[in-house]
Amino acid sequence: CGQCTFYCPTGAISEVSDFAPLRQAIASGKVIVAQTAPATRVAIGEMFGLEPGTVSTRKMVGALKEAGFHFVFDTNFGADLTIMEEGTELLARLKAGGPFPMITSCCPAWINLCEKLYPDFIPNLSTCKSPQAMLAAVVRTYWAEAIGKQPSDIFLVSVMPCTAKKDEIIRQDLGREGYRDVDMVLTTREVARWMQEQGIREWAAVSEADYDNPMGESSGAGMLFGATGGVMEAALRSAFEMGTGQRLEKLDFQSVRGFQGIKQATIDFDGRPIKVAVVHAAANVRKLLEAVRADPGHLGLHFIEVMACTGGCIGGGGQPKSNDPLVLEKRTRSVYEIDAQKTLRRSHENPSLLNLYSHFLGRPGSHKAHELLHTHYQDRSPGTRDAMAAGGGDDESIC
Ligand code: SF4
Repeated sequence: CGQCTFYCPTGAISEVSDFAPLRQAIASGKVIVAQTAPATRVAIGEMFGLEPGTVSTRKMVGALKEAGFHFVFDTNFGADLTIMEEGTELLARLKAGGPFPMITSCCPAWINLCEKLYPDFIPNLSTCKSPQAMLAAVVRTYWAEAIGKQPSDIFLVSVMPCTAKKDEIIRQDLGREGYRDVDMVLTTREVARWMQEQGIREWAAVSEADYDNPMGESSGAGMLFGATGGVMEAALRSAFEMGTGQRLEKLDFQSVRGFQGIKQATIDFDGRPIKVAVVHAAANVRKLLEAVRADPGHLGLHFIEVMACTGGCIGGGGQPKSNDPLVLEKRTRSVYEIDAQKTLRRSHENPSLLNLYSHFLGRPGSHKAHELLHTHYQDRSPGTRDAMAAGGGDDESIC
C-alpha cells in the first residue's frame, strides 16, 4: 500500500467484509447498536452515487435503522467527551508544567506508530481513549444499566472511516469482565455494503431519522474531529474557556485548518502563549516528531494533534474510493459547514454530556472517568519485543 508496515490506515491490510458476527447477533436477539464517526456522514452518500461531501447524517441514521440497528448513537458525542477529558488533561499539564508537548491519542494508527517506533513519546500521549472507545464504554455501563440490560446483551458496531479502528478495539483496556466494549468495526464502505445487502439501493428512498439519545446530542466541535486540525480546534475552544473562565469571541481557529502538512499556531490563554501544532499524513508526522525529538526545548510546543491519514479521518482508508481530485476538500468543507450550522458548538456545553457527568461520571478526570475513559500505552518497539520473546513473554504481531 506504500505505507509503513508498522500500521495501516489506508485500508490495504484488513478491510474484510465479514458480516457473520452481526448476523449472529441479530439472530440471537441482542440489542443491536451502531455508533457513527464524524467523517462517515460526509462520505457515505458517495457509495450511493452522490457527490463527495454530501451531508447524509439523517439519511445514514435512517438507513442503519432500516438495516437492522435498533439504536444509533453519534460518535460526535464521544468526541465531546474526549474533549472534556483531554481539555482537562491539558489544563492539568499546563498547571504542572508538563510533560510537553501533550499529543492527541484518538488516531489508532498513530498510537501503533508511537508504541512501535517512537516509544520515547509515550509519556507525551494523552491518556484519553478515542471517541469510539469512550462512547462504547458509556454504552456498556451507564446506558446498559439505564435500559435494564446486561453489557453482554448489547452488540455494538462502530461505523468508522478507518481500518485501524478494527485493530484498536482489541486493545486490552477496551473491555472488561469478559467482553469487549466494541464488538465490531465496519468501515464506511462496508456499512454501505451491509445496507445494500439489506435491500437499500436508492439513497433518496431512505427515510431520514435522528440519532438516539442520550448519546445522540453533540456539538459542532465534536464534528470537527473528522478533519485535520479539528481535534485541536475543539480542544482549544473548551480548554480556553474552561481554563480562563472567559468566553471566546471567535470560535473558528483558522490557523489550524487546511491541508498544510504541519501547521503551527500560538494561542493567547489570558496572557500565557500556548504553542500548538497539527500534523497529518505519515511522512509529516515523522518529520515533526524527529524535529521535536532533536530539540531539547521540544520546539516550545505544548500540544500536538496527530492524524495518520491525509486530511484526517475524512481521508481514512475505509472511506469510499473516489476519482474526484477535490474529494478531500469537498468532505472537509462539509465538516466545517456542519459545525457552523450548529447552535451548540462547544463540547463543554453539550447538555447530555453534562448530564452524564452529573449522574454517572462525576467530574472530568474523576476516578470513574479514568477507569472508563482513559488508557495506558506500551513500548512495543522492536528491541522490546525481542527482549520479551527472549524472556518468554508474549510477542505481538505487528499489524
Ligand atoms: Fe483512522 Fe482517522 Fe487515524 Fe486515519 S486519521 S487512521 S481514519 S483515526
